[in-house]
Amino acid sequence: MLSLEEARARILEATRPPPPETVRLDDAFGRFLAAPMISEMALPPADNSAMDGYAVRYDDLKSATADSPVALRITGHAPAGVLLDVRVEPGTCVRIFTGSALPAGADAVVMQEDVTLDAASPGIVSFREKVAPWENIRFRGEDVKDGNALVEAGEKLTEPRLSLLAAAGIASVPTTRRPVVGFIATGNELQEPGQPLAPGAIYESNRVGLAALAKQAGAIARIYPIVRDDFAATREALERAFSECDVVVSAGGVSVGEMDWVKPAFEAIAGKLEFWKVAIRPGKPFAFGVWNGKFFFGLPGNPVSAMVTFTLLVRPALLKLQGAREVHSRQIRATLAEPLNNHTDRRHFMRVTLDAESKARLAGAQSSHILSGLSRADGLVDVPPKSTLAAGTILDIIPWS
Ligand code: AMP
Ligand code: MG
Repeated sequence: MLSLEEARARILEATRPPPPETVRLDDAFGRFLAAPMISEMALPPADNSAMDGYAVRYDDLKSATADSPVALRITGHAPAGVLLDVRVEPGTCVRIFTGSALPAGADAVVMQEDVTLDAASPGIVSFREKVAPWENIRFRGEDVKDGNALVEAGEKLTEPRLSLLAAAGIASVPTTRRPVVGFIATGNELQEPGQPLAPGAIYESNRVGLAALAKQAGAIARIYPIVRDDFAATREALERAFSECDVVVSAGGVSVGEMDWVKPAFEAIAGKLEFWKVAIRPGKPFAFGVWNGKFFFGLPGNPVSAMVTFTLLVRPALLKLQGAREVHSRQIRATLAEPLNNHTDRRHFMRVTLDAESKARLAGAQSSHILSGLSRADGLVDVPPKSTLAAGTILDIIPWS
């Protein structure tokens, strides 16, 4: 049986991002950049004012005090967006606004709250104190220098990164594609939610949660109808999903029961099974395969096992397919508030909740059918086989996304 790390390495080895596409910035949120974006300009593009006020010469105000203010004559108005063709000569100043390009000759801006205007002498401004050289001035290139990297390849286009790219005049970017992931659930007992439950049946609950995890990881999710425990039905469902998706994820029917048709059906459509079974709990019966350059993940049907294996093994693959630099979740540092005991001979990924002090506690019972505990959990703790992690242990929690 493969270890989690071996299984993950095999999956990541097999998955590679398809060729990139060019996407307008307003469609690029959450995608991954396929090539580094270099700024072809400085930001800000010109020295400009950080305040509404007056562009002055430092030398002119050296002697200004409250008792003996210095008066300067206004020789121009520089609203934002206008590069004024006026030089600030000795004895003069220019009315200026936040973001207005600094007129030549000026080497400081005094905020308007600090000056005195006298209706009796229009066009004259009095300054009651001196100013520091370059005070209230934002410099050309102080944010980004011409030729600097804005966003690196493999980085996610987050909200602020989109704004940064726009500020550098970039309207579209090369990104990797969002993989289309199809979700199949198998089981004669399964029924769509929203109708009265037949005797012996349960509602199908894996597809919607797994699809949400996939979307959170940047994929496009497609939910397929429930599949009966039948070889031909399973084969047809896989065929259809593979014809429409880049990745197919099934839940259930991947164990050793005589009703578990997923593996034989995948092989019947000429899928190549890379491995089956990973030494983790929950989620031992996990299958990975390749079909015509597309990828297959056969997850166990128990809802907790399905979510845990998706998080540990499918999510990194979806990120790799998107060319993400970091395919592993950013873990959350926490302290155990109670001991966690794993008496089994497999690593147990226990579900825990985190409180405001980052103290972790078990999120209810840990059986793989307990959805209520899962629903309260903030993430997973990797508890080694046949061991107990004592209360007070500092460790990292693997979050859902
Ligand atoms: P299986 O992996 O098919 O052997 O299923 C293991 C357990 O998970 C059984 O109790 C199934 O009824 C349950 N199960 C399987 N698939 C689903 C699903 N899609 N939604 C809810 N429960 C499921
Ligand atoms: Mg089943």
